[in-house]
Amino acid sequence: MKGGSVSVVSLHKSYGEVPAVRGIDLDIAAGEFFSLLGPSGCGKTTTLRMIAGFETPTSGEIRIDGTDVSRVPANDRPVNTVFQNYALFPFMSVEDNVAFGLRYQKVGKADAKRKVGEALEMVRMGQYAKRKPGQLSGGQQQRVALARAIVLGPRVLLLDEPLGALDAKLRKTLQIELKSLQESLGITFIYVTHDQEEALTMSDRMAVMAGGLIEQVGTPAEIYDAPATAYVADFLGSANVLDVEVVGPAGDGRTTVRVGGETLTCRGVAAPGPGDDIRLVIRPERLLLEATDEEAGSLSGTVVRTVYQGATTDIIVAVADGSELVVRRPSERAGHHTAGEQVTVHCRADAMRLLPVGALGG
Ligand code: ATP
Repeated sequence: MKGGSVSVVSLHKSYGEVPAVRGIDLDIAAGEFFSLLGPSGCGKTTTLRMIAGFETPTSGEIRIDGTDVSRVPANDRPVNTVFQNYALFPFMSVEDNVAFGLRYQKVGKADAKRKVGEALEMVRMGQYAKRKPGQLSGGQQQRVALARAIVLGPRVLLLDEPLGALDAKLRKTLQIELKSLQESLGITFIYVTHDQEEALTMSDRMAVMAGGLIEQVGTPAEIYDAPATAYVADFLGSANVLDVEVVGPAGDGRTTVRVGGETLTCRGVAAPGPGDDIRLVIRPERLLLEATDEEAGSLSGTVVRTVYQGATTDIIVAVADGSELVVRRPSERAGHHTAGEQVTVHCRADAMRLLPVGALGG
């Protein structure tokens, strides 16, 4: 038995007067690695806890393989959860921790031993079976927590910031391990994180959440390359987001806008009106400080500072309305710019996109 499909239909959850989840719909395919990404308080944990059965929805449905489970107790759902804080029993050995849940599954002793051994091998912890959790590193403890969850054979594994307590290097290693574990198990993973890079690296598809709603669902490439809203672009940290004043249509689906004291012609939202709440989203890595034949416009400004980041260098430029623009260049081609220097930022057409504001305006 492999992964289960999960559908969420018009799901709402309020705690008293506080709406945590305000009506979301999701269709997660069997065997998919699906992430819920968003800032603290956006409702991702509440959504996961409703799928797990730890919270009852105020309204809406949760279907696993087509069956509504919204009123089914947590332990009768074909799901299991891995938390950030491992939640292992400190006085039990690794193998007893992993075997614990099997007690309730009427599994024979020999069968249980084999299943525990296999689960520990899958997370590369076979040699630590006799240790106590306190004798393991954080990463090893989280591997044991994973083994404990997968040994029960769930069709869907829910993971709530499982790498949140680990250092950056270990997180990277475990991201790769988790992804390959999910592929070899073939079960559905629903992964909650506030770390955009983590969601982009691991997910088949992801949902970006804000204020209890879903802002966009797509593959990492779709969301990164074509954010649906200025909020998504801003949250992924990959864009300059600027206020614009709409001047009018420029033909061929383009729009003329005024931004930072200059006039630019951009693609994006079709035919926005002067009162529409839109933003100009500009990719820092596609901006240049030297003129190019392909440019669609330019903005004059003053260098505020440069930030060396190893492979790339950010040059922060303040334009006429005071907005700051990040120009990201490979360090060897960043040139030497000093604060106060007057520059012209050259924008190629593919660097800019007009987008609806989304949750950024809310
Ligand atoms: P985080 O990453 O910080 O866990 P999150 O995106 O997972 O954030 P939730 O934990 O789902 O967000 O919380 C969504 C909203 O619901 C928040 O405003 C939170 O304060 C509120 N909330 C969550 N749990 C409860 C609760 N048990 N009682 C009251 N309010 C709650």
